[in-house]
Amino acid sequence: MLSSRGALVGAPLLRAALGLGLGPGQRRAASEAHGQGWLQPAGYDTGVKVYNSRTRRKDPLIVGSADATSWYSCGPTVYDHAHLGHACSYVRFDIIRRILTRVFGCNIIMVMGITDVDDKIIRRAREMNVSPTSLANLYEEDFKQDMAALKVLPPTVYLRVTENIPQIISFIEGIIAKGHAYSTAKGNVYFDLQSRGDKYGKLVGVAPGPVGEPVESDKRHASDFALWKAAKPQEMFWASPWGNGRPGWHIECSTISSLVFGSQLDIHSGGIDLAFPHHENEIAQCEVFHQCKQWGNYFLHSGHLHVKGKEEKMSKSLKNYITIKDFLKTASPDVFRLFCMRSSYRSAIDYSDGAVLEAKHLLLAATAFVEDARAYMRGQLVCGPIGEDVLWERLSHTKGAVKAALADDFDTPGAVDAIMDLIHHGNRQLKAVTKEPGGPRSPAVFGSIVSYIEQFFETVGISLADRQFVSGDSGSATLHSVVEELVRFRLKVRQFALATGEATREARRQQLLERQPLLEACDTLRQDLVAHGISIKDRSSTSTWELLCQRAQDHKPGS
Ligand SMILES: [Zn+2]
Repeated sequence: MLSSRGALVGAPLLRAALGLGLGPGQRRAASEAHGQGWLQPAGYDTGVKVYNSRTRRKDPLIVGSADATSWYSCGPTVYDHAHLGHACSYVRFDIIRRILTRVFGCNIIMVMGITDVDDKIIRRAREMNVSPTSLANLYEEDFKQDMAALKVLPPTVYLRVTENIPQIISFIEGIIAKGHAYSTAKGNVYFDLQSRGDKYGKLVGVAPGPVGEPVESDKRHASDFALWKAAKPQEMFWASPWGNGRPGWHIECSTISSLVFGSQLDIHSGGIDLAFPHHENEIAQCEVFHQCKQWGNYFLHSGHLHVKGKEEKMSKSLKNYITIKDFLKTASPDVFRLFCMRSSYRSAIDYSDGAVLEAKHLLLAATAFVEDARAYMRGQLVCGPIGEDVLWERLSHTKGAVKAALADDFDTPGAVDAIMDLIHHGNRQLKAVTKEPGGPRSPAVFGSIVSYIEQFFETVGISLADRQFVSGDSGSATLHSVVEELVRFRLKVRQFALATGEATREARRQQLLERQPLLEACDTLRQDLVAHGISIKDRSSTSTWELLCQRAQDHKPGS
């Protein structure tokens, strides 16, 4: 899938590029140089401050237009199943996309390129004895299914590399015409890095030595990178002015993005390993092609998924991966989403069963609270007087805290903490001592809290309504239905036992006596259910039931 062709750049360089810790002196110098080179765009100020890999600091996110915010996302190289590391990156950016849309008013046009021709695809197809095209089709479909299963919204449009070869060729011709690329006798075309001068390295700061591709003899300089690769024997190829061949990797993304957005691009996203050389090279290509000062105003990079206790990221080549399909057999997409939200999208994320379980418990706590609050609103959960003012205040405070967190570089852990804190306060009020019905009630404030919490989760793509599928156990929703059925059945039995159809007093007495065991069984059931926190009330012609208040305490977050 998403290959990390980005060579293993020295870790310090990458860390520097992403602001993940460098000596203080170095960092200041670098950030000044980059901050000065970056032009703050004009347009719609979203109100968000976002960590921009181009400046290595948080910049105000200003997009060209709220109605048409442009976002290019590097897509997968489709040669194998996607794993949880890929899932993590796409889910994190899906959450950001939803937040920008729903909370900060951006109508986003997202374009994703699919790399469906590449060395890995060709190699794998050969191993499997299928055509590269059918292999790519198979795994593209597989990728889309995985994304749908993870509830990742599809991009506005997918563009495949193989369907845009003429466009890629003209893009390369444009770069040659502007004097920044050259073709060789062997039929390769390379980007001339020297011609870019000190403008190369906008993301990584210092232009590093040759990386990524093996040094080929027909390059002028070892660090020049391929725009067009001459076909090797028995490889798929397209005709071009330089002979038969196929595009290099970086040129695909530059061309595809430019096809839709021209020289203007608000947001570019990808995993941290794509920053160098992939995104760096995309910038170089686009800025010389469009002859513009700044292509791609904001570069967002997501951190890797690590298997807990291991240094390395999850990857195919390290054989330490879990496929998305296998993962989703053990946990729901909502649990995975919440797991992703509990760390900043930029930071490396430690994967462990325990961390997934924690996310599962948090989601259950949120669901349980929403259910209890609903039961309270219906009058099934009877509590003492509620500190209504406190709750209105907490709700208003939470709304502010959540929005502020999201506006601060999409601080999802901060937002989740604020929501769980609100739930904690709500639960504290619901656990007040059981009282007989008839006391003062405050259903509106709980209604407002439930509505807000559901809206928050829905914004980030988590559905509390699907709760019975969340936990993997029977789930409280199912239990609720079962109790409902049980109480209905008991009511019928009880009504039958109490029916007085016989004409004479003696006959009625005799009938009641015969049916006495049924009444006793109904009473026993009522008493037994109290132990499970369920209280059945027999009224004249009906029976109702409610959860006893202590149940609410069991749902406190973290318990
Ligand atoms: Zn790309």
